[in-house]
Amino acid sequence: MHSYSATYYFSDSSQPYRAKLYLEKNRWRILVEDASLSFRKEIFWPVEQIVPKSVISEKSIFCFGSFPFQTIEVDGADFSKALLAFYPKADLVDQKFSWISSASTKSFLALALVFVLIVVGAYLFLLPKMANYIAGKTPISYEVKLGETLKENLLDEYTVSSDFSNALNDFASEIDFKSQYNIHFNGVEHSTINAFALPGGEIVIFDAIVQKMTHYEQLAALMAHEVAHVEERHSLKGLFRNIAGYAFVSFLVGDVNAILSVLAENAQSLHNLSFSRKLEESADAYGYEVLNQNRISTQGFIDLFKMLKEESEHTLDLSFLSTHPLPDERIERAHSYTEQQANFSHSEHLEEKFLYIQSLLKKSSDYEAD
Ligand SMILES: [Zn+2]
Repeated sequence: MHSYSATYYFSDSSQPYRAKLYLEKNRWRILVEDASLSFRKEIFWPVEQIVPKSVISEKSIFCFGSFPFQTIEVDGADFSKALLAFYPKADLVDQKFSWISSASTKSFLALALVFVLIVVGAYLFLLPKMANYIAGKTPISYEVKLGETLKENLLDEYTVSSDFSNALNDFASEIDFKSQYNIHFNGVEHSTINAFALPGGEIVIFDAIVQKMTHYEQLAALMAHEVAHVEERHSLKGLFRNIAGYAFVSFLVGDVNAILSVLAENAQSLHNLSFSRKLEESADAYGYEVLNQNRISTQGFIDLFKMLKEESEHTLDLSFLSTHPLPDERIERAHSYTEQQANFSHSEHLEEKFLYIQSLLKKSSDYEAD
Protein backbone atom coordinates (compact mmCIF):
# COMPACT_ATOMS: atom_id res chain seq x y z
CA MET A 1 0.00 0.00 0.00
CA HIS A 2 1.34 3.42 -1.02
CA SER A 3 0.92 5.94 1.75
CA TYR A 4 2.15 9.52 2.14
CA SER A 5 2.07 11.85 5.09
CA ALA A 6 0.09 14.98 4.26
CA THR A 7 -1.65 18.04 5.65
CA TYR A 8 -5.39 18.19 5.16
CA TYR A 9 -7.79 21.19 5.29
CA PHE A 10 -11.54 20.80 5.57
CA SER A 11 -13.50 22.91 3.11
CA ASP A 12 -14.72 25.33 5.77
CA SER A 13 -11.57 25.78 7.83
CA SER A 14 -7.99 26.88 7.52
CA GLN A 15 -7.05 24.58 10.40
CA PRO A 16 -4.40 22.10 9.25
CA TYR A 17 -4.82 18.42 10.15
CA ARG A 18 -2.25 15.72 10.01
CA ALA A 19 -3.29 13.10 7.50
CA LYS A 20 -2.17 9.95 5.77
CA LEU A 21 -2.81 9.62 2.08
CA TYR A 22 -3.26 6.20 0.51
CA LEU A 23 -3.18 5.92 -3.26
CA GLU A 24 -5.82 3.39 -4.29
CA LYS A 25 -6.92 2.27 -7.71
CA ASN A 26 -9.52 4.91 -8.54
CA ARG A 27 -9.51 7.03 -5.44
CA TRP A 28 -7.43 8.62 -2.75
CA ARG A 29 -8.13 7.46 0.77
CA ILE A 30 -7.29 10.21 3.25
CA LEU A 31 -7.03 9.37 6.89
CA VAL A 32 -7.37 12.57 8.90
CA GLU A 33 -6.24 12.61 12.50
CA ASP A 34 -6.67 15.29 15.13
CA ALA A 35 -3.37 16.34 16.72
CA SER A 36 -4.50 14.87 19.99
CA LEU A 37 -5.74 11.72 18.20
CA SER A 38 -9.16 12.35 19.70
CA PHE A 39 -10.74 11.71 16.32
CA ARG A 40 -9.96 9.93 13.07
CA LYS A 41 -11.85 10.40 9.89
CA GLU A 42 -11.64 8.61 6.60
CA ILE A 43 -12.27 10.70 3.44
CA PHE A 44 -12.39 9.50 -0.16
CA TRP A 45 -11.53 11.55 -3.25
CA PRO A 46 -12.34 9.96 -6.64
CA VAL A 47 -9.20 10.42 -8.70
CA GLU A 48 -10.93 11.96 -11.73
CA GLN A 49 -12.32 14.78 -9.57
CA ILE A 50 -9.04 15.80 -7.97
CA VAL A 51 -7.70 19.16 -9.12
CA PRO A 52 -3.93 19.67 -8.91
CA LYS A 53 -3.20 23.20 -7.68
CA SER A 54 0.52 23.24 -7.48
CA VAL A 55 2.65 20.22 -8.09
CA ILE A 56 6.23 21.02 -7.34
CA SER A 57 9.15 19.00 -6.20
CA GLU A 58 9.00 19.91 -2.50
CA LYS A 59 5.27 20.19 -1.94
CA SER A 60 2.19 19.27 -3.97
CA ILE A 61 -1.25 20.78 -3.35
CA PHE A 62 -4.54 19.31 -4.55
CA CYS A 63 -8.17 20.36 -4.17
CA PHE A 64 -11.42 18.46 -4.30
CA GLY A 65 -15.16 19.12 -4.15
CA SER A 66 -17.19 22.23 -4.81
CA PHE A 67 -16.27 25.64 -3.46
CA PRO A 68 -15.03 26.01 -0.75
CA PHE A 69 -12.70 23.17 -1.60
CA GLN A 70 -11.08 20.56 0.54
CA THR A 71 -7.34 20.77 0.21
CA ILE A 72 -4.44 18.43 0.78
CA GLU A 73 -0.74 19.20 0.80
CA VAL A 74 1.70 16.36 0.32
CA ASP A 75 5.36 16.73 1.17
CA GLY A 76 8.19 14.99 -0.59
CA ALA A 77 10.06 15.21 -3.83
CA ASP A 78 8.90 11.84 -5.14
CA PHE A 79 5.17 12.38 -4.89
CA SER A 80 4.63 13.75 -8.38
CA LYS A 81 6.70 10.88 -9.80
CA ALA A 82 4.58 8.41 -7.80
CA LEU A 83 1.40 9.97 -9.16
CA LEU A 84 2.64 9.64 -12.73
CA ALA A 85 3.50 6.00 -12.11
CA PHE A 86 0.33 5.14 -10.22
CA TYR A 87 -2.19 7.04 -12.32
CA PRO A 88 -0.55 7.28 -15.75
CA LYS A 89 -3.79 8.33 -17.41
CA ALA A 90 -5.01 10.86 -14.85
CA ASP A 91 -4.27 14.54 -15.20
CA LEU A 92 -2.88 14.93 -11.72
CA VAL A 93 0.49 16.15 -12.77
CA ASP A 94 0.52 18.82 -15.40
CA GLN A 95 4.09 18.28 -16.44
CA LYS A 96 4.46 21.69 -17.99
CA PHE A 97 2.96 23.29 -14.92
CA SER A 98 5.13 21.35 -12.52
CA TRP A 99 8.17 22.25 -14.59
CA ILE A 100 7.37 25.96 -14.41
CA SER A 101 6.60 25.77 -10.74
CA SER A 102 9.79 24.17 -9.65
CA ALA A 103 11.94 26.54 -7.68
CA SER A 104 14.93 26.39 -9.98
CA THR A 105 12.71 27.06 -12.96
CA LYS A 106 11.23 30.07 -11.23
CA SER A 107 14.63 31.60 -10.78
CA PHE A 108 15.47 30.73 -14.38
CA LEU A 109 12.33 32.52 -15.55
CA ALA A 110 13.14 35.50 -13.35
CA LEU A 111 16.56 35.67 -14.95
CA ALA A 112 15.05 35.38 -18.41
CA LEU A 113 12.63 38.19 -17.57
CA VAL A 114 15.45 40.41 -16.35
CA PHE A 115 17.33 39.64 -19.56
CA VAL A 116 14.32 40.56 -21.70
CA LEU A 117 13.86 43.80 -19.72
CA ILE A 118 17.50 44.69 -20.23
CA VAL A 119 17.25 44.03 -23.96
CA VAL A 120 14.05 46.08 -24.25
CA GLY A 121 15.58 48.84 -22.14
CA ALA A 122 18.66 48.83 -24.31
CA TYR A 123 16.48 48.98 -27.39
CA LEU A 124 14.45 51.94 -26.14
CA PHE A 125 17.10 53.98 -24.34
CA LEU A 126 20.52 52.90 -25.44
CA LEU A 127 19.84 52.34 -29.11
CA PRO A 128 19.19 56.00 -29.93
CA LYS A 129 22.44 56.88 -28.15
CA MET A 130 24.19 54.09 -29.98
CA ALA A 131 22.75 55.27 -33.30
CA ASN A 132 24.23 58.71 -32.58
CA TYR A 133 27.51 57.14 -31.63
CA ILE A 134 27.66 55.04 -34.82
CA ALA A 135 26.70 58.11 -36.86
CA GLY A 136 29.49 60.05 -35.16
CA LYS A 137 32.01 57.33 -35.98
CA THR A 138 30.94 56.97 -39.60
CA PRO A 139 33.77 58.18 -41.87
CA ILE A 140 32.88 61.09 -44.14
CA SER A 141 33.76 59.06 -47.24
CA TYR A 142 31.21 56.45 -46.23
CA GLU A 143 28.64 59.11 -45.42
CA VAL A 144 29.16 60.67 -48.86
CA LYS A 145 28.70 57.28 -50.54
CA LEU A 146 25.55 56.75 -48.51
CA GLY A 147 24.24 60.21 -49.46
CA GLU A 148 24.81 59.47 -53.15
CA THR A 149 22.96 56.15 -52.92
CA LEU A 150 20.09 57.83 -51.10
CA LYS A 151 19.99 60.63 -53.66
CA GLU A 152 19.72 58.18 -56.54
CA ASN A 153 16.89 56.31 -54.87
CA LEU A 154 15.10 59.42 -53.75
CA LEU A 155 15.38 61.65 -56.78
CA ASP A 156 13.98 58.89 -58.99
CA GLU A 157 10.52 60.00 -57.98
CA TYR A 158 11.11 63.75 -58.36
CA THR A 159 11.82 65.90 -61.39
CA VAL A 160 15.27 67.35 -60.89
CA SER A 161 15.82 70.47 -62.96
CA SER A 162 19.43 70.86 -64.02
CA ASP A 163 18.99 74.59 -64.78
CA PHE A 164 17.48 75.20 -61.36
CA SER A 165 20.18 73.05 -59.70
CA ASN A 166 22.99 74.88 -61.54
CA ALA A 167 21.55 78.25 -60.61
CA LEU A 168 21.27 77.21 -56.96
CA ASN A 169 24.87 76.01 -56.90
CA ASP A 170 25.99 79.19 -58.65
CA PHE A 171 24.24 81.25 -55.96
CA ALA A 172 25.75 79.05 -53.24
CA SER A 173 29.26 79.49 -54.66
CA GLU A 174 29.12 83.11 -53.43
CA ILE A 175 28.75 81.90 -49.85
CA ASP A 176 31.36 80.19 -47.70
CA PHE A 177 29.34 77.65 -45.73
CA LYS A 178 32.34 76.66 -43.60
CA SER A 179 31.61 73.02 -44.35
CA GLN A 180 33.97 70.08 -44.45
CA TYR A 181 31.53 68.51 -46.90
CA ASN A 182 31.32 69.11 -50.61
CA ILE A 183 27.91 70.80 -50.59
CA HIS A 184 25.72 70.27 -53.63
CA PHE A 185 22.22 71.61 -54.15
CA ASN A 186 19.58 69.73 -56.12
CA GLY A 187 16.69 71.80 -57.46
CA VAL A 188 13.46 69.84 -57.68
CA GLU A 189 10.22 70.83 -59.39
CA HIS A 190 7.52 70.17 -56.84
CA SER A 191 4.57 72.09 -55.49
CA THR A 192 5.40 71.22 -51.88
CA ILE A 193 7.17 73.89 -49.86
CA ASN A 194 10.12 71.86 -48.71
CA ALA A 195 13.86 71.45 -48.50
CA PHE A 196 15.97 68.80 -46.82
CA ALA A 197 19.50 67.63 -46.40
CA LEU A 198 20.90 64.19 -47.17
CA PRO A 199 23.90 62.87 -45.29
CA GLY A 200 27.21 63.72 -46.92
CA GLY A 201 26.45 67.10 -48.48
CA GLU A 202 23.56 66.64 -50.91
CA ILE A 203 20.74 69.11 -50.26
CA VAL A 204 17.36 69.07 -51.98
CA ILE A 205 15.42 72.31 -52.46
CA PHE A 206 11.92 72.33 -53.93
CA ASP A 207 11.08 75.15 -56.33
CA ALA A 208 7.87 76.02 -54.45
CA ILE A 209 9.81 77.26 -51.43
CA VAL A 210 12.09 79.49 -53.54
CA GLN A 211 9.13 80.87 -55.50
CA LYS A 212 7.64 82.19 -52.28
CA MET A 213 10.81 84.06 -51.32
CA THR A 214 11.10 87.79 -51.86
CA HIS A 215 14.84 88.39 -51.38
CA TYR A 216 18.14 86.57 -51.53
CA GLU A 217 18.79 86.63 -47.77
CA GLN A 218 15.93 84.15 -47.33
CA LEU A 219 17.52 81.67 -49.72
CA ALA A 220 20.91 82.13 -48.09
CA ALA A 221 19.29 81.49 -44.68
CA LEU A 222 17.56 78.35 -45.94
CA MET A 223 20.78 77.05 -47.47
CA ALA A 224 22.86 77.80 -44.37
CA HIS A 225 20.27 76.06 -42.20
CA GLU A 226 20.29 72.94 -44.40
CA VAL A 227 24.09 72.92 -44.56
CA ALA A 228 24.06 72.90 -40.75
CA HIS A 229 21.97 69.71 -40.82
CA VAL A 230 24.65 68.14 -43.02
CA GLU A 231 27.57 69.53 -41.05
CA GLU A 232 26.14 68.41 -37.72
CA ARG A 233 25.13 65.06 -39.19
CA HIS A 234 21.51 65.47 -38.15
CA SER A 235 20.21 63.57 -41.17
CA LEU A 236 22.63 60.72 -40.67
CA LYS A 237 21.81 60.47 -36.97
CA GLY A 238 18.09 60.67 -37.71
CA LEU A 239 18.37 57.90 -40.28
CA PHE A 240 20.37 55.71 -37.96
CA ARG A 241 17.79 56.26 -35.24
CA ASN A 242 14.96 55.40 -37.66
CA ILE A 243 16.59 52.13 -38.50
CA ALA A 244 18.30 51.69 -35.14
CA GLY A 245 17.17 48.08 -34.83
CA TYR A 246 18.68 47.11 -38.17
CA ALA A 247 21.74 49.24 -37.55
CA PHE A 248 22.22 47.61 -34.19
CA VAL A 249 22.07 44.08 -35.58
CA SER A 250 24.23 44.96 -38.58
CA PHE A 251 26.73 46.56 -36.26
CA LEU A 252 26.76 43.43 -34.09
CA VAL A 253 27.36 41.13 -37.01
CA GLY A 254 29.80 43.64 -38.48
CA ASP A 255 27.94 43.96 -41.77
CA VAL A 256 28.22 47.59 -42.81
CA ASN A 257 26.79 46.87 -46.26
CA ALA A 258 23.60 45.67 -44.62
CA ILE A 259 23.21 49.08 -42.98
CA LEU A 260 23.81 50.72 -46.32
CA SER A 261 21.17 48.70 -48.12
CA VAL A 262 18.59 49.13 -45.38
CA LEU A 263 19.27 52.87 -45.38
CA ALA A 264 18.85 52.99 -49.13
CA GLU A 265 15.51 51.22 -48.81
CA ASN A 266 14.53 53.80 -46.21
CA ALA A 267 15.45 56.74 -48.40
CA GLN A 268 11.77 57.72 -48.52
CA SER A 269 11.86 58.48 -44.82
CA LEU A 270 14.36 61.26 -45.51
CA HIS A 271 12.01 63.94 -46.70
CA ASN A 272 9.89 63.52 -43.62
CA LEU A 273 12.69 63.01 -41.19
CA SER A 274 11.70 65.47 -38.51
CA PHE A 275 14.20 67.20 -36.32
CA SER A 276 13.80 68.06 -32.69
CA ARG A 277 13.57 71.69 -31.58
CA LYS A 278 17.04 71.38 -30.18
CA LEU A 279 18.49 70.32 -33.54
CA GLU A 280 16.59 73.08 -35.31
CA GLU A 281 17.96 75.68 -32.89
CA SER A 282 21.42 74.31 -33.36
CA ALA A 283 21.05 74.41 -37.16
CA ASP A 284 19.79 78.01 -36.96
CA ALA A 285 22.69 79.04 -34.75
CA TYR A 286 25.12 77.58 -37.27
CA GLY A 287 23.20 79.38 -40.03
CA TYR A 288 23.41 82.77 -38.24
CA GLU A 289 27.17 82.37 -37.99
CA VAL A 290 27.51 81.45 -41.66
CA LEU A 291 25.41 84.44 -42.75
CA ASN A 292 27.25 86.77 -40.38
CA GLN A 293 30.66 85.67 -41.58
CA ASN A 294 29.53 86.15 -45.18
CA ARG A 295 28.21 89.64 -44.33
CA ILE A 296 24.64 88.58 -45.19
CA SER A 297 21.84 89.96 -43.02
CA THR A 298 20.23 87.37 -40.75
CA GLN A 299 17.01 89.25 -41.41
CA GLY A 300 16.85 86.49 -44.06
CA PHE A 301 16.00 84.01 -41.29
CA ILE A 302 13.26 86.24 -39.88
CA ASP A 303 11.72 86.74 -43.31
CA LEU A 304 12.05 83.05 -44.20
CA PHE A 305 10.23 82.11 -40.99
CA LYS A 306 7.61 84.80 -41.60
CA MET A 307 6.98 83.52 -45.12
CA LEU A 308 6.66 79.92 -43.90
CA LYS A 309 4.25 80.97 -41.13
CA GLU A 310 2.10 82.91 -43.60
CA GLU A 311 2.10 80.07 -46.10
CA SER A 312 1.17 77.60 -43.41
CA GLU A 313 -2.07 79.52 -42.92
CA HIS A 314 -3.38 78.76 -46.40
CA THR A 315 -1.67 75.64 -47.62
CA LEU A 316 -1.43 72.12 -46.30
CA ASP A 317 1.37 71.37 -48.71
CA LEU A 318 4.05 72.61 -46.37
CA SER A 319 6.16 69.66 -45.30
CA PHE A 320 8.99 71.96 -44.29
CA LEU A 321 7.29 73.06 -41.09
CA SER A 322 6.36 69.55 -40.06
CA THR A 323 9.94 68.40 -40.39
CA HIS A 324 11.54 71.64 -39.21
CA PRO A 325 9.33 72.77 -36.30
CA LEU A 326 8.95 76.54 -36.05
CA PRO A 327 7.87 77.55 -32.57
CA ASP A 328 7.72 81.27 -31.67
CA GLU A 329 10.96 81.02 -29.66
CA ARG A 330 12.80 80.25 -32.89
CA ILE A 331 11.50 83.41 -34.52
CA GLU A 332 12.31 85.44 -31.38
CA ARG A 333 15.85 84.09 -31.40
CA ALA A 334 16.27 85.16 -35.02
CA HIS A 335 15.12 88.65 -34.01
CA SER A 336 17.51 88.96 -31.12
CA TYR A 337 20.43 87.70 -33.20
CA THR A 338 19.59 90.08 -36.02
CA GLU A 339 19.34 93.09 -33.67
CA GLN A 340 22.95 92.48 -32.63
CA GLN A 341 24.29 91.89 -36.13
CA ALA A 342 26.46 94.81 -37.21
CA ASN A 343 28.52 93.29 -39.95
CA PHE A 344 26.49 92.90 -43.13
CA SER A 345 26.01 94.59 -46.47
CA HIS A 346 23.97 94.23 -49.62
CA SER A 347 25.44 91.88 -52.23
CA GLU A 348 24.74 92.70 -55.89
CA HIS A 349 26.06 89.29 -56.92
CA LEU A 350 23.70 87.35 -54.69
CA GLU A 351 20.81 89.59 -55.63
CA GLU A 352 21.46 89.03 -59.34
CA LYS A 353 21.81 85.28 -58.95
CA PHE A 354 18.69 85.08 -56.82
CA LEU A 355 16.66 87.01 -59.38
CA TYR A 356 18.00 84.71 -62.08
CA ILE A 357 16.81 81.63 -60.14
CA GLN A 358 13.39 83.16 -59.73
CA SER A 359 13.20 84.03 -63.42
CA LEU A 360 13.96 80.40 -64.23
CA LEU A 361 11.22 79.20 -61.92
CA LYS A 362 8.78 81.73 -63.29
CA LYS A 363 9.55 80.53 -66.83
CA SER A 364 9.00 76.89 -65.94
CA SER A 365 5.76 77.60 -64.10
CA ASP A 366 4.59 79.74 -67.05
CA TYR A 367 5.41 76.83 -69.27
CA GLU A 368 3.41 74.47 -67.08
CA ALA A 369 0.45 76.83 -67.22
CA ASP A 370 0.43 76.84 -71.05
ZN1 LIG B 1 15.92 72.16 -40.11
